[in-house]
Order: sequence, then C-alpha cells, then structure tokens
Amino acid sequence: MSTTRRGFVKVGAGGLIASILGFDLRPAYAQARTLKIARTTETRSTCPYCSVSCGVIIHTLGDRAKNVTPQVIHVEGDPDHPINRGTLCPKGSSLYHDILNERRLTKPQVRRPGSDHWEDISWDQAIDEIARNIKKTRDATFIEKDTEGRTVNRCEGIAWNGGCTDTNEFNYLVVKTMRGMGVSYLETQARV
Ligand code: SF4
Repeated sequence: MSTTRRGFVKVGAGGLIASILGFDLRPAYAQARTLKIARTTETRSTCPYCSVSCGVIIHTLGDRAKNVTPQVIHVEGDPDHPINRGTLCPKGSSLYHDILNERRLTKPQVRRPGSDHWEDISWDQAIDEIARNIKKTRDATFIEKDTEGRTVNRCEGIAWNGGCTDTNEFNYLVVKTMRGMGVSYLETQARV
C-alpha cells in the first residue's frame, strides 16, 4: 500500500497501521466524536471575532441545576448556519480556548489618569463612574446652536463605537440613547 505525506498526517500513524492491516477506523472516529458530545447541551451562538459572524454551536456539560455551572467542553461551526455552513477560520476554531482561559478578564478594570496599572473595580462602581463621566462630558461639550445660529443640539465630546457581537436590538437601543443625548459620532457593527 502506498500513501502520501498528506494522507499520513490526515489519518495518523495509528490509522495508517490499522489501514495497512485492513481495519476501517472511520466508525471508531465517528463514535469517539459522538461520545465526546453525547451528554452535552447545545447552544447556538455567533463567533465574536469579526463581522463575518459565523454561527457556532457551544457544547456544555451540566445538568442545568441551579447550583451547577455548565462547563464548556467543545465549540464547533454550526452546519445549519447560512453564513459558514459549519466551517470556522483558525480564529473561530480557537473559541474554546478563549472561553476557558485563565487570563480572561471577568471583572471591570480601570486605569486612572496618570496611572501605569489597571485596578479591579465592582460592576456597580464601573456603571456609576461611566454614567458620571458621560454626564460631565456631555454637559461640557453640548452645542445648542452652530456658528450660524441654527439649532443643532449635538454633543461632540462623546463617540460610540459598537462591537461585533451586538445584536440588532441592542444597537437599536444604542442609537436611540445616543441620538437622545445628541451624539453624532456614532457607529455600530449591526450584523447579528
Ligand atoms: S470564524 Fe473567523 S471568519 Fe467566522 S466570524 Fe469568526 S473570526 Fe470571522
């Protein structure tokens, strides 16, 4: 039997030996994958990395009891998704390691003006400080009339830039809120 290097890498040494001996390991490989996700809960989601917005399926283990935190064990492309049809690029394929990463930030941080380091703050403190800074900036930069005396009611000191995982509903609220404050530098990445 002859084999190419590509075929060797694809099948693996064990598979190659089995193939030489006349065994077909494909059912075993399929069974192994089935076992891996046999008892998982499937959650359909969207890759957060770029505006292609590929669909993914996140497999989690956990019995859905209130005191149990589900454990992500596998992430793969969604074969039913019209954009990617089950495929993922290398970034999307690494999603599992993004979710389960000890360096992942799980709480808000702030770097104060002049400081050289980030400090942890609570969610309440973060929301409070953001609200206070928005009000202060808007009050300081709001323009009621332009240089020709026309009413414009705009705030040029704040800009909003949306993220790629924001849903259309979230972006709708963002636009309503920002327009209500007079923010004109406004961009969303509506796609989900
Ligand atoms: S899988 Fe790749 S191409 Fe698809 S959304 Fe994620 S980063 Fe973009």
